[in-house]
Amino acid sequence: MRLSAIRFGPVLRLSLYILAGLLVLVLLGYFVGAAPIADARYNTVQAEPPYAPSGRAKALHDTLMVADLHNDLLLWGRDPLERHDRGHTDVPRLREGGMGLQVLAAVTQVPRGRSYEGTSADALDQIPFLAAAQRWPVRTWTSRLERARYQAEKLRRAAARDEGLMLLRSRADLDTLLARRDENRAAMGTLLAVEGLHALEGETAHVDTLADDGYRMMSLTHLHDNALGGSSTGLRHGGLTDFGAAVVDRLAARDVTIDLAHASEALIDDVLARTSGPVVVSHTGVRATCDSPRNLSDRHIEAVAVRGGVIGVGLWETAVCGTGPAATAAAMRYVADRVGVEHVALGTDFDGTVSVPFDATGLPLLTEALLDEGFTPQETEQIMGKNVVRVLRRTLPPAE
Ligand SMILES: [Zn+2]
Repeated sequence: MRLSAIRFGPVLRLSLYILAGLLVLVLLGYFVGAAPIADARYNTVQAEPPYAPSGRAKALHDTLMVADLHNDLLLWGRDPLERHDRGHTDVPRLREGGMGLQVLAAVTQVPRGRSYEGTSADALDQIPFLAAAQRWPVRTWTSRLERARYQAEKLRRAAARDEGLMLLRSRADLDTLLARRDENRAAMGTLLAVEGLHALEGETAHVDTLADDGYRMMSLTHLHDNALGGSSTGLRHGGLTDFGAAVVDRLAARDVTIDLAHASEALIDDVLARTSGPVVVSHTGVRATCDSPRNLSDRHIEAVAVRGGVIGVGLWETAVCGTGPAATAAAMRYVADRVGVEHVALGTDFDGTVSVPFDATGLPLLTEALLDEGFTPQETEQIMGKNVVRVLRRTLPPAE
């Protein structure tokens, strides 16, 4: 029977129109409202701005070049160049917080029901829904690689629209940033990172695709076990697979900085055994002050230090088992006492669906907490940025 042959009664026809109208409204609501609601609901602060650091902390903070090893801003629908009152960061708020170098990570898969006790790789991935709700290109709905490529594109577009914003690709770029920053504190560098190399979709060659897009730091795993190895919050806690080993070799060949955040203990051991030179743990806590499978053991704090790397201590509640910047400062104190202050760095996890003490404008409060913890101004300067610059000077490719 042809459709046109169906005869709808007037009441039925009206009901169908109402139903279609409702469907359009629901879809419109989803595309306009769902992502901002999720953004505001999952990226929360423990205290709203404005913040009031002590005069001493503010004076010191105003001289610092802050470097942060981890931020998930690119996942969200906020225009990076505009100031928002939701989430933790955007370029205006980062600048106000003294940020000089921000690592921005691409997230490409988030299994539903994730937890520190065990996250299944097979659970429904939530990113396609976020991508659709934020009207990301259709190619990103089904491809993790395309999600990473799109997030790099977003940053490149932002950097093209803001004269003071740089995307660092090399040591030479880092030197340019430092020189510009000496003249103008609004100069801000960014560095692209990938959180979990399931983004490669099984192809070692995609290391080159992502490196060519500007990615310079990569962690092998994220919340779940993948084809490269085990996650600290996965189910099996395994080490490096053959594919993972091939990828690690390719990362080394491309001068990509290896990030051990989210790696299982066995994976950390295997990656350290296969590589030389400094590594980073971009955002973590330490088990000594906050016992969790997601956090770093003393043995691995020492192993990262021996390699000349840095440990980016996070601001979020479940990394440091506390609210307020003092909990972060205490974890930093532990690492400094154990292996030396030159291995301590900041890895906020801003905009990583976490609760943090303040948005980016509150970073002077961390400087204050470090001074209160007994760090000298020079040590505070190292922790807040200089240590990261030192490591990137060794790991970035010399020039393009
Ligand atoms: Zn993370």
